[in-house]
Parts: sequence; C-alpha cells; structure tokens
Amino acid sequence: MQAAVVTVGDELLSGDTENTNATWLCRELTDRGVDVQRVFTIPDDVGDIAQVVNESRAKYDAVLVTGGLGPTHDDLTMEGVAAAFGRDVEQNEEAARWLTEHGGYAAGDLVAGTTHLPVGVRVLHNEAGVAPGCVLESVYVFPGVPTEMKAMFAKVADEFDGEVQHVEFVHAGEPESKLVDRFAELRERFDDVQVGSYPGEHVRVKLSGPDASVVADAADWLRERVDPPEEASD
Ligand code: ATP
Ligand code: MG
Repeated sequence: MQAAVVTVGDELLSGDTENTNATWLCRELTDRGVDVQRVFTIPDDVGDIAQVVNESRAKYDAVLVTGGLGPTHDDLTMEGVAAAFGRDVEQNEEAARWLTEHGGYAAGDLVAGTTHLPVGVRVLHNEAGVAPGCVLESVYVFPGVPTEMKAMFAKVADEFDGEVQHVEFVHAGEPESKLVDRFAELRERFDDVQVGSYPGEHVRVKLSGPDASVVADAADWLRERVDPPEEASD
C-alpha cells in the first residue's frame, strides 16, 4: 500500500507549529508496512486542499489529511476534501448525535460548522476533542491537535498495511565519502535491501528490506568492512 500524508495549516508553513503530525503518521504507517510516498504541507486554502487531495487519491492507495477541522474561519479542510470529490459539505446528523450523546454537548452548544462534513462520509468520532474526522473512499481526515489525531488514527490503524520492512543499523566511524565504494558493492550484492546513510557524529547506515535474514546478512557483510565508531550507539 502506498500513501500520501497531507498536513494542512498556515501555522505549519510559517514555522509557528512544528509538523510533528507528519513525522508521527509516517512512522506509524511505515511500521505497518505502508510505503509513504509523499508528505505535503499546504495552507488553509480550499483550492489547494482540493487539488492536493485529488491528485494524491488518484496516485496513492490512501491519503491521510490532518489539520483544519474546527469551526473557525481558517478551518477549511472539510470543504477542500468535499471539493476534491465534487461533493457538498452538509450538517452530519450522526456526528452531531454522537457529540450530544457522548461528548456532553447540548445540540445548541455546538458551534455552527463543527459537524459539517462532506456528503456521504464514514464519520470518525473524536474521543479526545470535539471536531469529528471522516473517511471518504481512500481519504482519511483527522484533526490537527496531535492527541486528537493520534486517538482517531488508532480507530482506523488496521486499515493501513503492507509489506513490513525489517531494519538493521550499522555504525561507521569513517566519513561518508569514504564509504561510497562499500555502499556500491553492498547494493550490488543485496539488491533487495535499501541502504540509507545518515551522517551525524558518526555515520548511521540503515539497511531495510522485506526479508529479515537477508537484511541481517547485509548488515553483517557491511559491519565486517567498516571501521566502528569510537562509541557505537543505536
Ligand atoms: P480541532 O478543531 O479539533 O481543535 P483542528 O483540526 O482544527 O483541530 P488546527 O486548527 O489545524 O486543528 O490546529 C490545532 C492545533 O493543533 C494547532 O494550534 C497546532 O498546535 C496543532 N497542529 C495542527 N497541525 C499540526 C501538525 N501537523 N503537527 C503538529 N501539531 C499540529
Ligand atoms: Mg488550522
């Protein structure tokens, strides 16, 4: 399964809010074997949201959208998602009923717009906040508040799967540029293993692939051929 993550919010683009939702979702999806192909960060703009959601749903098996669900003027995600499907946004009675029955809200207390969702969605109730999310075909819409987003993702986590990748790290106490030849040979010998090189205090080499024993063999092969760092740590 290939997926795209779409994070919505002017505050993400201005740097006021760190985009932790993107990183968290990428990790959760990757752990389930989903191949995340794109992360988009886009403004609170109906046209931008509609365009990116529409292009992403045409290209990937699943699209996960977070942010911009509330009833305030800058919360335009539901309108954008509806527009991507050529649908309208309407008052969702199931979402409103759930909030009055479980959320402790009287019908009149809910700010207008809180339960306006695209026509024909599967509602995702918000156990940790107010604004409901939804699923529309392959598009999943979650709130921006991280605790709410995580609680809602947990409800549908089983719907995301793929070929789980096994991972091993090898630590090298040599400059990255010196490792190029060994990386080339490694990739030739183990063509089903992805090789990522992350330089820092020392170089962390990430090896991943669908077969645990092949990844382990590749890691052993490389470990025997690089100088270890002074103090290796995972
Ligand atoms: P709700 O209406 O349920 O409160 P929302 O979907 O309207 O949520 P936003 O208005 O987009 O959410 O954002 C609410 C807060 O959530 C922001 O102030 C920010 O702190 C946080 N937030 C939003 N998007 C992200 C993100 N991608 N990563 C981390 N935090 C985020
Ligand atoms: Mg917002």
